[in-house]
Amino acid sequence: MKIIETVCAVREQVKAWHKAGYRVGLVPTMGYLHEGHQSLIARACAENDKVVVSVFVNPTQFGPNEDLGSYPRDLARDAALCESTGASIIFHPTPEEMYPSGYSTFVDMEGMTQTLCGKSRPTHFRGVCTVVSKLFHIVQPDTAYFGEKDAQQLAVIRRMVQDLNMDITIVGCPIVREPNGLAKSSRNTYLSETERQAALVLSQSIFAGKAMVEAGETDAGALVDAMRHKIEAEPLARIDYVQVVDQQTMQPIEKLDRPFLAAIAVYIGKTRLIDNFMGQGSASQ
Ligand code: AMP
Repeated sequence: MKIIETVCAVREQVKAWHKAGYRVGLVPTMGYLHEGHQSLIARACAENDKVVVSVFVNPTQFGPNEDLGSYPRDLARDAALCESTGASIIFHPTPEEMYPSGYSTFVDMEGMTQTLCGKSRPTHFRGVCTVVSKLFHIVQPDTAYFGEKDAQQLAVIRRMVQDLNMDITIVGCPIVREPNGLAKSSRNTYLSETERQAALVLSQSIFAGKAMVEAGETDAGALVDAMRHKIEAEPLARIDYVQVVDQQTMQPIEKLDRPFLAAIAVYIGKTRLIDNFMGQGSASQ
């Protein structure tokens, strides 16, 4: 498995693959890979002849006071995980390779990027759409793989691909969790041992919410209240949002009468964590 740092070299490689008739899959990541990323890479390897994993801590998706500088990085470990999972190359560009001096073009989506994470991170999805568009143009994959852990991101990418007529299939993959329920995240490394315990309140509120829906709850407000109360019982937790939205538009809904996303963002100390569950809703409500 090769690690490639330039746009030119990755293009040449992928061009040769396409010429040979290979199907190419892409897994975009910010590195510090864990079993969540690995599940995407494994799926990509099962469904494609060649798989590119991009490892790039994208500066444009971080706000001015966010964790760009401290985001964890370990390329050697990432390379070992990619190789053992079957990836063909890692694309690991420098920020200057992706955003050379004079860079001026951004992909900015309206509406669904302004709710949930977009509210407290107003420039986040502009950075995500821009870097993912660039990766799609550079790698030209047949299929790209994203985690349901970042459910709003997945919905935004699906919308972007549809709106901009990109000929790429988007595959969403289920959330991978620790045995104790905590959704795996590169940011979990920021947590102290006490905070790790406190962080379990996220998945506990998700599981409680899911159980309510399975027991027949159809009112989004009641669901949000119950999940909020559970999180508020943890002294180290500070809620950013607890919301139920339409799965496609990311706009708040009152009744669970269509496919929905119940999403939460919670600070545990200084670390902001997200989690969610999705449901089909019932048209009869
Ligand atoms: P990141 O490196 O955090 O930008 O994540 C790269 C990709 O991995 C995104 O599509 C994430 O949704 C996905 N991902 C991250 N954590 C998980 C997880 N616990 N389960 C499934 N997918 C994940």
